[in-house]
Amino acid sequence: MPLRYLFVDMNSFFASVEQQLDPAIRGKPVAVVPLMARTTFCLAASYEAKAFGVKTGMAVWEAKQRCPGLILRQAQHREYVIMHNRIVDAVGSVIPPQRIVSIDEMACKLVTSERRPEKVVKIAQAVKEAIYHRAGDQMHCSIGAGPNQILAKMGSDFQKPNGLTVFGDDDLPHMLYSLPIEAFPGVGPRMAKRLRLHGIFTTEQFCAAPAQVFAAVWGSKLLGEKWYRTVRGEDVPEKETLRRTVGHSHVLPPDLRTDAGAYGVLVRLTHKAVARLRRVGYWAGGVSIGVSYLGDPGTVAAPSGWGKASWGAGCRFPHRQDTPGILRAVSDLWKNRPAGDAVPFKMGMVLTDLRPAASATPSLFEADRKQAELSHAMDKVNAEFGSSVVHFGGMWGLKDAAPVRIAFTQIPDFDRRVV
Ligand SMILES: [Mg+2]
Repeated sequence: MPLRYLFVDMNSFFASVEQQLDPAIRGKPVAVVPLMARTTFCLAASYEAKAFGVKTGMAVWEAKQRCPGLILRQAQHREYVIMHNRIVDAVGSVIPPQRIVSIDEMACKLVTSERRPEKVVKIAQAVKEAIYHRAGDQMHCSIGAGPNQILAKMGSDFQKPNGLTVFGDDDLPHMLYSLPIEAFPGVGPRMAKRLRLHGIFTTEQFCAAPAQVFAAVWGSKLLGEKWYRTVRGEDVPEKETLRRTVGHSHVLPPDLRTDAGAYGVLVRLTHKAVARLRRVGYWAGGVSIGVSYLGDPGTVAAPSGWGKASWGAGCRFPHRQDTPGILRAVSDLWKNRPAGDAVPFKMGMVLTDLRPAASATPSLFEADRKQAELSHAMDKVNAEFGSSVVHFGGMWGLKDAAPVRIAFTQIPDFDRRVV
């Protein structure tokens, strides 16, 4: 199996930047928090803090309990973006990054002459040295090399911090067998549960599963085929360039067929869609929302169909992928909904004019960048602790969030799909 990709993942990125900027906290347990408040949580932890059991997403009080000497630093997103750019330059001085996956991850394609394992090791070492030289000696990374981006990324997870894992012909898939199925990017707790329902408990079973099982678990023949080929080391071409929209719709349960209930569901659908947008590495240039109403209050509409009356609206904006900015656009659209006492029946929203990260120009406005970083950090927390842990609660504009909470559990979760 040819080694086609090198995947670079910075270790404890936010905390390492803090240690790079301030020599006084090097070698010490550090946690980065969004705000200096007792009720906040850890966005990132240094390796010294991780040794005490401090983790991303952990409440600060608990982190302090586990690690009494923990040093807290408020996130400095501007610094993280500056460092990100330095790292991209550093990697690019050795091998051009093909895809910037997140603020601290990128994938590089190896050309044919670079695919021998000894050569790959040399390139990876040169990447690490370039990062130390251009970004700083606190900026460690773990690198994985594999036949496709997913397996290369798993290689980068193998050894932390400062690891290097090159999947050779003989290592695959045996080397993976020691990992839990959740180690596959795109397999979170929910998908793992579905896999178990199909009799897949171990990575060995995962790697041997027939395409039909993947298709059943992911609810798509295309995705089933993609997973089947991916675990076999094929470089499955991304269909991303053909992707035009990401969206969700949801028939409101009877108790949420109110103005506030409908808006709560719309917010939740937006959260999900934007998180998915980030996961597939896209930026959106617009959003549309739609609501359909029960034709006559009191009559029961067919669950599969839209009601007779409906209303929709859309808008465009500079390409973005942060939750608060897109929620703001959705909320502004929603303000123009028709007044009246029609009963909302189904909500839908769709992100439009999608562009892959590589060709989108991220917003130049500092505040927007911050929001994108915060959104990525939220994705990490939600990926680890279930998709509803962290929300932009203040954005809801709901006096009573309780009915919304009910809705969250009723909306089918597509968060884990890798598209
Ligand atoms: Mg990382």
